[in-house]
Amino acid sequence: MSTPIYNRVALIGLGLIAGSMAWAMKRGGVAGEIVGYARSEETRDTVRKLGFCDRVEDSAAAACEGADLVVLAVPVGAMGGVAQEIAPVLADGCTVTDVGSVKRDVIDHVAPHLPDNVHFVPAHPLAGTEHSGPNAGFAELFDNKWTIIVPVPGADRDAVARLTSFWQALGANTDEMDPEHHDLVLAVTSHTPHLIAYTMVGVADDLGRVTDSEVIKYSAAGFRDFTRIAASDPTMWRDVFLTNKDATLEILGRFTEELFALQRAIRTGDGDHLFDYFTRTRAIRRGII
Ligand code: NAD
Repeated sequence: MSTPIYNRVALIGLGLIAGSMAWAMKRGGVAGEIVGYARSEETRDTVRKLGFCDRVEDSAAAACEGADLVVLAVPVGAMGGVAQEIAPVLADGCTVTDVGSVKRDVIDHVAPHLPDNVHFVPAHPLAGTEHSGPNAGFAELFDNKWTIIVPVPGADRDAVARLTSFWQALGANTDEMDPEHHDLVLAVTSHTPHLIAYTMVGVADDLGRVTDSEVIKYSAAGFRDFTRIAASDPTMWRDVFLTNKDATLEILGRFTEELFALQRAIRTGDGDHLFDYFTRTRAIRRGII
């Protein structure tokens, strides 16, 4: 067993991401002790039975006492409230991180609550599934996936380096970005595609003349993937769009313009436009892989 990177890790919010982090920490001997907090007694019981935490507490503050790493793994809109609640008990010199899918908003709502003697190092693992809750976690979730570390201005480089090693020990590749760039990249690669998937599944459901079972039965990979993505947790995704508003609205605006141009090309029979567009996008894909 390797030397733990942190002696005591507190996980606040015990769902897919926290559960997967705990299993991956246990796999790699990355933490001396893992302490968890969940709001509901039902989740706490589930986690005790699953066994991915060494101890489960019934308050966030109790879970954070004496921890040298605190991980906020709740929906983005809940991060600020949790930070406020735990601030008085944080150990001198500990690191607070989060796993939120949006970074600017989380930094704005968490940082003001944290005392000067703790290090705040935001991060975002680019890994997930359409499942949520503690039963959904598994140790391999982060293997060979990216985790983006988003240091705040003036961040303690040792604290950043230690959290980076932690994520690498969980199986992830790591990169650093500033929050605005992170939020724009994610608006393109994840947030807007999720919105499109939600919309496509909604359109299919509203169609009436085609039943839901026909949609599933006759769909090749493309639509099946839309339905999988559209099954993602509504609370998490509501918060993503409310908090990454500017970047998703910018990408959505550009997307809508392109879609209208393609719609017009289809209506007017402008095959050259369609052919040129699809040729350009095919070249992009072939240039990437
Ligand atoms: P999840 O729904 O599986 O788990 C979140 C847990 O937080 C739930 O158990 C919920 O009850 C709890 N919770 C909600 N509000 C709380 C509060 N105020 N106090 C305490 N607990 C609270 O969700 P998840 O997929 O593990 O997502 C957690 C975080 O990770 C989110 O910020 C999300 O943006 C981020 N994230 C998710 C994915 C993904 O694909 N699922 C990927 C990367 C990052």
